[in-house]
Amino acid sequence: MQARLSAQWFDGVSAQAQSCELGWQDGTLLMWVPDATEPRRYASRLVVWPERSRHGLRQLLLPDGAVVSLPDSSAWDSWAEAAGIAQPLAARWAMSWRGVALALVLLVATVLAAWRWAIPWGAQELAGWVPESVQISIGERVMRDLEQRGWLLPSELSREARQGIDDAVAQMVRKAYRDTPAPRYQLHIYKAPRWLGPNAFALPSGDIVVTDALVTLLQSDGDSVSSALLGVVAHELGHVRERHGLRLVFEAGAVGVLAGWWIGDYSAVLAGAPALAVQAGYSRGHERDADAHALRVMKDAGIDPRAMLQFFQALKEAVPERDGDATAFGLATHPVDSERMRFFEDGAR
Ligand SMILES: [Zn+2]
Repeated sequence: MQARLSAQWFDGVSAQAQSCELGWQDGTLLMWVPDATEPRRYASRLVVWPERSRHGLRQLLLPDGAVVSLPDSSAWDSWAEAAGIAQPLAARWAMSWRGVALALVLLVATVLAAWRWAIPWGAQELAGWVPESVQISIGERVMRDLEQRGWLLPSELSREARQGIDDAVAQMVRKAYRDTPAPRYQLHIYKAPRWLGPNAFALPSGDIVVTDALVTLLQSDGDSVSSALLGVVAHELGHVRERHGLRLVFEAGAVGVLAGWWIGDYSAVLAGAPALAVQAGYSRGHERDADAHALRVMKDAGIDPRAMLQFFQALKEAVPERDGDATAFGLATHPVDSERMRFFEDGAR
């Protein structure tokens, strides 16, 4: 049993300070107040202990609403130390630079972990919950924005050529989704500025954009639609089906999305969406998923998956600076081409 410490307390009802004495016994705070024979008892864990700041008045908050005021803070500190009353962890940390450094490291680690795992997970969950109507309006808005920026121009391919591609894709989808519902999609063929090159990308709404340059690259003769082109569309269908685009947008604008979700305004998210759509820095995991989807669709539709080898080869010749792992092309960013080529080659067996 430790010597008593004099203090003042407020009963939480009147503003009148009253004198009291504090004691400590086996993890219990004792408080003697005037006109009472027995001390009040408070379990240590129910007491809000004062932060050990270097300055300022110390106060204890008691579970019954009373407040103990400790005018002599150094007397309290030595009393509390002698009693072995644990300082709140945060206060002890804040007293030492090691504690501060450790807290910083933990904070950074938490943020990194959120970035690496929580945000992708949250983005995936969120993407799964977005109603189709919202996805469609996001898609329409991004398409309009891309046109206004001059990134998508009217196609210069013949109407017949475009119709042929439309029909071939529709036929592939019909065959590949005999047993499961096909993802909602809309194929667009556009002429794009040179920097966008031979390219294809998909929006969360199911809008799949294929550039004239990609069609020309893969289609040597005018009459039949190339299997490689169909494979590319099947890959994009995979992104649509797994809602990768939405996940990407959400990951990129995680904070903005949360705010937007809250106030019902998506403009913060949408501002970055057009650039994301064409650059599409999908993760390797997303690309593998989309490739796996493409492989299944091609096989179910009776298309030889090795056609994709032609696509990678042609892309390499057309855009040598890609060198298999460049970042400028949404279609084939990750993983490296050789790995993906092997995937389709093995898958064809
Ligand atoms: Zn992709």
